[in-house]
Amino acid sequence: MEKKTGYHIITYRFRLYCPHKSWLLETKAIYNQALTFYLELLLKKPELTELSSGRQIMRKLELLSVGARGQDKESVEYPLPVEKLPLYFRRAAINDAIRICRSWKNRDFSLEALSEKSNEKDRKALRASPVFYQGMYKDFTNTSISLKLWNGEKWVWEVCDVDTCGRGFPMEGRMLSPVLKLSGNRAMLHVPVKEKVEDTRTVKERLLAGGRICAAAFPCNDCLAVLIVVDKDGRCTRSLFIRDGKELAHRKKQLLNRIRRNRAAMGIGPGKEGFGKGLEEENKHLKEKIRNLTDAYAHKVSRRIVDFCEEEGIQILVVPNYKQSMDLNQMGYLSATSYDWLGRRITQYLRYKAFGRGIVTTSVSTKGIASTCHICGEPVKRFNGENRPGRNYYGGKNFICPNGHRGNSYFNEAVNVGKRFQKEEAALVKGNALE
Ligand SMILES: [Zn+2]
Repeated sequence: MEKKTGYHIITYRFRLYCPHKSWLLETKAIYNQALTFYLELLLKKPELTELSSGRQIMRKLELLSVGARGQDKESVEYPLPVEKLPLYFRRAAINDAIRICRSWKNRDFSLEALSEKSNEKDRKALRASPVFYQGMYKDFTNTSISLKLWNGEKWVWEVCDVDTCGRGFPMEGRMLSPVLKLSGNRAMLHVPVKEKVEDTRTVKERLLAGGRICAAAFPCNDCLAVLIVVDKDGRCTRSLFIRDGKELAHRKKQLLNRIRRNRAAMGIGPGKEGFGKGLEEENKHLKEKIRNLTDAYAHKVSRRIVDFCEEEGIQILVVPNYKQSMDLNQMGYLSATSYDWLGRRITQYLRYKAFGRGIVTTSVSTKGIASTCHICGEPVKRFNGENRPGRNYYGGKNFICPNGHRGNSYFNEAVNVGKRFQKEEAALVKGNALE
């Protein structure tokens, strides 16, 4: 079967540092002023939304608000109340107004919703983050970008620092217009990138073409991921253990200890009132650091997995479906450290990262993958070193089954993932033959 090419859009999220933070807020405010004006105009002229293309609606809105080229400003029917708004900023705001209007079509969209009287949620849905079209930004590199910002009086070019947050700058693909996201003290730049996908065939189409698969498991203690390559006869031909777990656990523990110390220092008691304000702030910051650290590892591990699949010429990657509800009692101490969450995060990132490189990701049920023997299917006992094997010892690195099969628990888990997929695959291909 021939490969099908296609495109997908992924969003890169960069941290933005602007020397004049207030200008970002001013810019967002003026953007939404224009957006609200166009939303109101669309309400006054509902016939416009009947036009088929967004481009036609935009043309009409522009004629009504700024007039045709060379037209006398006085004769414009609904003059735009925002002076000196750059053309491309206006167009971005109009496009957002059309998008919002369409999404509200079947709801009670009225001037009422735009007014101060409406509830916060509705008003929020009628606001948007500024989109910087071509001409509103320049000199975009992995360390800085120039943005055209409103400083309250006029439009100025401002050079802002960019932090790619360890993810790297999109080297391939076409960068689309960046979006400025402001939340609390933090400014982010979301950059959609349109990338070519060499192979967009489905799992079924790929299976019919034959080939090897890669099965993965995420034990997430000292070992963050195990990969095995399985050929079409079910033989495991290669394996890879990604062991960064200790390092991550260590860095996480350091941060957790600082949080614990701060909490103890903030302890309730005489003379401690009002003392903990700074420490509370610090703890918030530390918790964010833990989140970012875990996230960075999830990105790193998923990148490594995709690289491995590419080196091995893998087209189908099989992962456990962590979206299914897990029996948390069965997870033992793993749940207490929320490591299962890391596995879920890795599989989320894997889906789009792998797809971008022509590898399709599919998932199988997590039921029993860690607790049964991959050779005979009997329940296993797990243990570490000299410890006595036990059924509930879920962290154990080694396993043993009643029939005497033994080995590495993580490897066992990955093989079970691969086996489960091959069982389902047989049904999938068979189903295809019947169609
Ligand atoms: Zn066995």
